[in-house]
Amino acid sequence: MEQAVVIIGAGLGGLTLARVLHVHGIPSVVYEAEPGAGSRTQGGQLDIHDHNGQRALEAAGLTEGFRSIIHEGGEATRVLDRDGTMLIDEPDDGRHRRPEVLRGDLRRLLLDSLPAGTVRWGRKLAGASRLGDGRHEVVFADGSSTVADLLVGADGAWSRVRPLLSDATPRYAGATFIETYLHDADNRHPRAAAAVGAGAMFALAPGRAIFAHREAGDLLHVYVELKRPAEWFTGIDFGDPAAKGLVAAEFAGWAPELTALVTDSDTPLVPRPIHTLPIGHRWQRVPGVTLLGDAAHLMPPSGEGANLAMLEGAELADALVRHPGDVEAALAAYEEPMFARAALEAVDAHRMLELCLGDDAPSGFIAMMKRMSEPDRRPS
Ligand SMILES: Cc1cc2nc3c(=O)[nH]c(=O)nc-3n(C[C@H](O)[C@H](O)[C@H](O)COP(=O)(O)OP(=O)(O)OC[C@H]3O[C@@H](n4cnc5c(N)ncnc54)[C@H](O)[C@@H]3O)c2cc1C
Repeated sequence: MEQAVVIIGAGLGGLTLARVLHVHGIPSVVYEAEPGAGSRTQGGQLDIHDHNGQRALEAAGLTEGFRSIIHEGGEATRVLDRDGTMLIDEPDDGRHRRPEVLRGDLRRLLLDSLPAGTVRWGRKLAGASRLGDGRHEVVFADGSSTVADLLVGADGAWSRVRPLLSDATPRYAGATFIETYLHDADNRHPRAAAAVGAGAMFALAPGRAIFAHREAGDLLHVYVELKRPAEWFTGIDFGDPAAKGLVAAEFAGWAPELTALVTDSDTPLVPRPIHTLPIGHRWQRVPGVTLLGDAAHLMPPSGEGANLAMLEGAELADALVRHPGDVEAALAAYEEPMFARAALEAVDAHRMLELCLGDDAPSGFIAMMKRMSEPDRRPS
């Protein structure tokens, strides 16, 4: 079977590409490794920025749907010292420059906007090979295969499409985020809930940080961030409740309402080692194949990754629309600005990791927040 546009990965990037192509009457097929839309909790709130993620949603014709899933008030941000002292407290200004939505709601919005059958679930890409003329044979783990006129790797950090373009592989960035949740926060965890406030809370110190976010449904979503070698984490059994004590011990002397975000959590701790591709990762044009999102430029979390993946999905679709019948011209037009922007974003992302966990934390982070809140620096 031959298909014109084959997208690997139904994350936010791949789905945005499929949706914007659909808006312009171009069909595509998205192959996704997960067995179904609800097979994994798409946990976490994302702030969707006006200059990238929101632009992509506009191109997708989904601005109205997006507005309906915004978690109002969630843009509030505060920074606490390790003893719980408030260092910065910025309320949500209601201007929706970076409104918060649940990743699962956003993915659902995109999925529902696609014609039935666009996403083929349970189809994990095993590998792809060149056939010539820009076509690729795409083989799945279940033994099935297809041929793509245009193959797009939107398959995230460990992309199986990337080797067609580049030898680069992700390396450990020197820090691991440990994720957990507190349920029914105001009732059951009032002191921790009060410390977090209405939106995002950062408590930062050299080498260690607690970042928590209030999500819809009275939920506190917590990331502990530790700058430690990867081996330090492999030595911990995170399924064992004792892991909470081990991680909390890294915050000895911190305010109890902050350490409670770890010790009183309602779910097991889940380690998320942070990996990165080289800053400025790029490739020579190879006919008929490209990448977007984390597959193209995995970087430490900076609040931009999902936004960039969506913008790139929209921009790639736009390039294909503007170059009908000339895939190579479209891919060149898409890739060059993407490479330049991603390189700048990756520099910022590494800088952000350093601001959160570096030797002068939290002072550099606070200075950045103050700069961002100057009126002339706020995008209108
Ligand atoms: C701890 C943490 C916190 C973050 N917080 C934020 C944040 O607040 N804001 C933000 O903007 N970004 C955040 N990010 C980054 C963001 O999650 C990613 O940049 C974003 O999800 C990238 O989107 P994507 O579509 O490129 O890839 P993904 O979201 O990774 O989607 C890839 C899809 O491809 C599928 N897939 C993978 N391999 C295969 C295969 N072989 N065959 C078929 N399908 C496959 C996967 O199942 C998945 O559905 C965070 C990242 C981390 C690690």
